Amino acid sequence: MTRGGPLVLMGPSGAGKTTIAGRLVALHPERFVFSVSTTTRPPRAGERSGREYHFVSRAEFMEMVDRGELAEWAQVHGQCYGTPVANLAVPADGDGRTPVLDIDVQGARQVLDRVPDAVALFVLPPSPQVWIGRLAGRGTEAPAEIVRRLRTAVGELAAASSFGAFVVNGDVDAAVREVLTLADEGEGRGHGSRPPADADVARLCRELEAGAECEIRRLEQERQAGAAQ
Ligand code: 5GP
Repeated sequence: MTRGGPLVLMGPSGAGKTTIAGRLVALHPERFVFSVSTTTRPPRAGERSGREYHFVSRAEFMEMVDRGELAEWAQVHGQCYGTPVANLAVPADGDGRTPVLDIDVQGARQVLDRVPDAVALFVLPPSPQVWIGRLAGRGTEAPAEIVRRLRTAVGELAAASSFGAFVVNGDVDAAVREVLTLADEGEGRGHGSRPPADADVARLCRELEAGAECEIRRLEQERQAGAAQ
């Protein structure tokens, strides 16, 4: 089997990149392999080192950077995240699987610079309501952390128009099918010049940004009201 370039899924926190990546690998284990990143973020309940992430200290992370062991890395929500070079290397044993990267926009740009045949897809939630509901419903982050993630998301959405291929994740199965189609067609390959984002996608990005700003204000007012009591 010839191995395709890495498949990069990016997009705001809560868009469902991790779920899509997991589903893709579970459905097609002969074709895809999840790229386990290295991070300084502490593990969440149920996460295991080597499965969701390689969890390391900041000092260990910086040593990996100095030794050139990360193909890309970025600070996201105040923590460091990076893709080990080994995850992108073509293994000598002829493993033809395509690595699936679940990374942020800064990292996606670095991968596109480094690996010309990488396919980068921008995953979007279908509406502000569904998105905010998913973020709050995960129950893994405190409100202050949700605010931080929404702030980062606003920046990511502003960068969306510089990418060429989008997947709106309303229904996971449909989103996975869309990812497979786009990957097969080579949509989102490399940097190159981009057509302007589809008008519907551009409108959705504006709605998501507005929804995020609104939720940030609401959560902050709630926090202030709580502090004043
Ligand atoms: P979380 O803490 O929710 O697992 O991830 C936070 C953000 O970091 C997500 O947007 C995720 O895609 C991104 N991320 C995870 N691994 C990497 C990585 O190796 N490199 C970069 N640049 N971002 C990553």
